[in-house]
Amino acid sequence: MYRFGLIGYPIAHSLSPWIHKEFMKRTHIDGDYEIYEINPEGAFSEKINAFRQKELHGFNITVPYKQKIIPFLDEVDYTAKAIGAVNTVRNKDGKWIGYNTDGIGYVRSLKSKYPRLFSKADRRALILGAGGAARGIYAALQDAGFTTIDIANRTKEKALDIIRLYQVQSQVMPLESVEKQIDQYDVVIQTTSVGMKPYADKSIIEIKNTKPNDTIVSDIIYQPIETNLLTQAKCYGFSLHFGHTMLLYQAQYAYEIWTGIKPPMERMDQELQLILEGR
Ligand code: NAP
Repeated sequence: MYRFGLIGYPIAHSLSPWIHKEFMKRTHIDGDYEIYEINPEGAFSEKINAFRQKELHGFNITVPYKQKIIPFLDEVDYTAKAIGAVNTVRNKDGKWIGYNTDGIGYVRSLKSKYPRLFSKADRRALILGAGGAARGIYAALQDAGFTTIDIANRTKEKALDIIRLYQVQSQVMPLESVEKQIDQYDVVIQTTSVGMKPYADKSIIEIKNTKPNDTIVSDIIYQPIETNLLTQAKCYGFSLHFGHTMLLYQAQYAYEIWTGIKPPMERMDQELQLILEGR
């Protein structure tokens, strides 16, 4: 029987147990996925060493421990090292190996909804934000063959730190100049925390005075499902891509790392949407 889990704080309302239990059902694997809330007060080292004794087969890590976990790992995968954050650990014969599934999960979710985008020779993306999620998405877009990946962020230096790591054509721009340039990209990906509940009326950029075009507007926030930015984009006729689908596919990749099995995703999107709408 497999035993998986999640560490973080606060995580009582996490959707990961539902997602992974659904994967276990769909792949006919006997197992459990439990939440292990670790209060940030007190020494993390003592708590994580006690958690190690539980000998889980694999676990996820969320805020505020995605960086803090790194010194306790035996190995860190190349992508997670470049991102500087780990969200998935596999226990391989007692050794903890760290991964980051956000970037690949994002690209899988985008590809599942817009497969034709991935057959274009020249693919251009703009990322809004330069935090941990943006780093993972940038790396995965490069691996997926995007030819241009630009970044707009409040703190310019953080965006420059990302583009220095990679070879793809990139420029950094202020958030204020994004609106005028949206139509130059195949996809604009919102990765900041601006617009998340309870501040759902906020948006990192305003979409006004823009002509409808083929650009996909994507937001990785999933609470609410349709962010203020996506509502604006919808009014102007843009194609939309939703953050809850990234949540599903980053979990799919984590499950694959743990079990070697890729769970089928049919109707997961709609089922998760119903759960989120009921909150
Ligand atoms: P992070 O590392 O803390 O980065 C936050 C980013 O947001 C930074 O670029 C920061 O800009 C920007 N930001 C925050 N407040 C801002 C403000 N008031 N004005 C302008 N920019 C602001 O966070 P993260 O881990 O990347 O996560 C970001 C978001 O993605 C969160 O909402 C998280 O829930 C979501 N997420 C979703 C998934 C999914 O599966 N759908 C996965 C991972 C993350 P500065 O650099 O200037 O500080």
